[in-house]
Amino acid sequence: MQHPVVIIGAGPIGLAAAANAIERGLDAVVLEAGADAGAAVGEWAHVRLFSAWAELIDPAARRLLEASGTWSAPDDRAYPTGGEWRERYLVPLARAIDASSHGSVRFGSRVTGVGRAGRDLLVDSGRETDAFAVHVEGGGRLLAGAVIDASGTWTTPNPLGADGYPALGEREHASRISYGIPDFSDPAVAARYAGKHVAVAGRGASAQGVLIGLAGLARQDAATRVSWLLRRSSVGDAFGGGDNDQLEQRGKLGQDARSAASSGVVRSVTRFRTDAVLEQPDGRLTLRSVDGAEVTDVDEVVVVTGFRPDVSFLSEVRLDLDPALGSARALAGQIHPDHHSCGDVAPHGHRELAQPEPGLFLVGMKSYGRAPSFLAMTGFEQVRSVVAALAGDLEAADRVDLVLPETGVCNGAGVFDAPDAVASGGGCCGTPSGPELVSIGRPSEG
Ligand SMILES: Cc1cc2nc3c(=O)[nH]c(=O)nc-3n(C[C@H](O)[C@H](O)[C@H](O)COP(=O)(O)OP(=O)(O)OC[C@H]3O[C@@H](n4cnc5c(N)ncnc54)[C@H](O)[C@@H]3O)c2cc1C
Repeated sequence: MQHPVVIIGAGPIGLAAAANAIERGLDAVVLEAGADAGAAVGEWAHVRLFSAWAELIDPAARRLLEASGTWSAPDDRAYPTGGEWRERYLVPLARAIDASSHGSVRFGSRVTGVGRAGRDLLVDSGRETDAFAVHVEGGGRLLAGAVIDASGTWTTPNPLGADGYPALGEREHASRISYGIPDFSDPAVAARYAGKHVAVAGRGASAQGVLIGLAGLARQDAATRVSWLLRRSSVGDAFGGGDNDQLEQRGKLGQDARSAASSGVVRSVTRFRTDAVLEQPDGRLTLRSVDGAEVTDVDEVVVVTGFRPDVSFLSEVRLDLDPALGSARALAGQIHPDHHSCGDVAPHGHRELAQPEPGLFLVGMKSYGRAPSFLAMTGFEQVRSVVAALAGDLEAADRVDLVLPETGVCNGAGVFDAPDAVASGGGCCGTPSGPELVSIGRPSEG
């Protein structure tokens, strides 16, 4: 390859892609918008992961770090926080990549556009052979032999508004609305929420983390109360598979959230699809649902409604994404939260992640689009396969070995407007005995 592989994002998956590229002797340049490695992970530094270290270190990255001679590996069985994941793994990994003769990591380099050099979206000829042009904020432009977009979804959280756009008044009252999991161990943050009426919008693991945190605050200040806003008509399987979850800490999170939800502090408000945030005469907020229902006397709102991919800088390359999830199309059937909640996904790699634009791959959290169930270990396997394909080793690229733990929930969350009827056809959990090693070699390719 005449030009380097350009990797967008120095998160866990982008850096793993670079480590794989270096191992295969490919030149790799990582462009990261933030000031250091794992900029997105750093924003949820206080959150403890439900995966242990063993599942959070890419094999090629581990080899590179071990070869550096300065890295001390964490205990495989321990569960880091986001901050520890970043400090003990991502930051040293970025340094090791930068120190390698094949790799470099450029911080403060936000990618604003990816296209074919000299050929806009319309032009058919030359797309197989010509270099990519990667545009960076501030005016830089880099030529690339291939582009791996591992830019995640962190910078584009879903809004409170149920239409998918900010609710009426959502921007105006931004000072009382936060997105993501607040750090309740920070005294200033605790003071913001303790003794208040907090509305929490969202159903996933992050929302459940917020419920647990607020129930903890209520033990210190009994006036704390929570309205848990759910778009569906029941809580359903939101708390996951508990003891059946093959990731122990993920199961425990659901169980703790179930306890928090039944502690008397939390009131579930189902079928609530926010369309407006209105200020009351006393300065508190009223949240209004599309059907006119209201939650009144709200002091603070925490929005944990998931994320969506930002494809704005990919408008000059040819994409084929699932129209609902914005994920790689081939993955959508297995990760759509309405139909499939098992957590397991068939082994996949370069073929499923390739785009119509030759040499362009969307990987990591971004490859799942709006689906919430992405695991780092899935991403490590994705980039191992993608980089092997770029290096011309199709045998390795097509041989996907993957162990993905199931959630212990055997169906999807159900159809949006009839959630009590579990989704059909997506059921899983067929192997209650434990995780299964899946080895796939594509028969047609030997
Ligand atoms: C709170 C939370 C807890 C999680 N817990 C677990 C867990 O326990 N186990 C697990 O396996 N997974 C977990 N995940 C899911 C997933 O593994 C992580 O989100 C992981 O960080 C995804 O890695 P990524 O590299 O795809 O994206 P990110 O970590 O989001 O990294 C993307 C990087 O790209 C950069 N970037 C973005 N846009 C641009 C641009 N235009 N130009 C240049 N750079 C850009 C960002 O600054 C960022 O550094 C969790 C996620 C969250 C949010």
